[in-house]
Amino acid sequence: MTTSAVLQTSFLGDMILTTPLLERLAPAGPVHVVATPANAPVLANHPAVAGVIVFDKRGTDAGWRGLRRVAAALRATGATRAYLAQGSLRTASLAWLAGIRERVGFATSSGRMLYTRRVPYAKDQHHAVRLWQLASPPGDSAVPAGLRPTLHPGAAEDDAVHDLLAAHGVTAGEPLVALAPGSVWATKRWPGYDALAAELLETGGGERLVVIGAAGDAPLAAAIAGAVARAGGPPVIDATGRLSLLGSAALLARCRLLVTNDSAPLHLASAMNTPTVALFGPTVPALGFGPLADRRAVVAKEGLACRPCHAHGPRQCPLTHWQCMRTLTAAQVAAEVATILPRR
Ligand code: SF4
Repeated sequence: MTTSAVLQTSFLGDMILTTPLLERLAPAGPVHVVATPANAPVLANHPAVAGVIVFDKRGTDAGWRGLRRVAAALRATGATRAYLAQGSLRTASLAWLAGIRERVGFATSSGRMLYTRRVPYAKDQHHAVRLWQLASPPGDSAVPAGLRPTLHPGAAEDDAVHDLLAAHGVTAGEPLVALAPGSVWATKRWPGYDALAAELLETGGGERLVVIGAAGDAPLAAAIAGAVARAGGPPVIDATGRLSLLGSAALLARCRLLVTNDSAPLHLASAMNTPTVALFGPTVPALGFGPLADRRAVVAKEGLACRPCHAHGPRQCPLTHWQCMRTLTAAQVAAEVATILPRR
């Protein structure tokens, strides 16, 4: 039996995409995960996770004392092998300070000098596959077919979703389509969601719309609700800021489809296998963060020479025209929705 530690302190999407690695390691022994305070709750109920150590690297654990505290907690797990899913020198130092003998990470990571094994970073692979390959034997580049992340909302999340939908008069089995118009990165926010919502009233299958996202996305939800109201459609359900991360996953499991930017809800939908239409602007799926649901489509401005212009998405378009997003039309996205939406 091998006790493993997986250190993943990047963005929420990265944490979700690490779950196939956790599932791969779990049959060999307990798997402990080091996660940020924001991301740790998404691992609740996950059967591959023996324990989560919260590392508040930008807050209470920012200094040397915090590093030592987390290293001590990591040492107490008895882990003998660490997988550095996040590649900073600080994260590598954590595993080294914890006395973990084997430390495995990507050959391109800034913490690689502290690794005992460096795994090639497969640029052409999805990031979930890259992370999964951290546990591959040296020289084995096999790629699993149909690999997808997993999350496990529990009864509390199902109850929260039930209560939210009941408060909006949604009946059991009433079909829903989710929209996720937000993103931390401004240039990744497609500006056409309100137009799309009105378009779906004409071309969709009669599904009620629900907007998911953080509390800060409420104005985007209000714009969508306003567009639908003006077009005479049924009230839009605003779930922004109303559910936990796992609650949002539970809601997505209840939806027939999600339309999203290149942001965290895309990965929540992949984990719940919710059909996904993903809109990419300054980034491209080839960076390794495309949707993984069985039914999926990507809408993007192909042939635009400046794409991709940033690994995450710049705060402003460096060329100012923002054509990668501005030129995507609601009709174009609605056509993909019609293609991906499962038949009833
Ligand atoms: S430079 Fe190109 S890819 Fe980047 S934000 Fe502007 S239009 Fe989009």
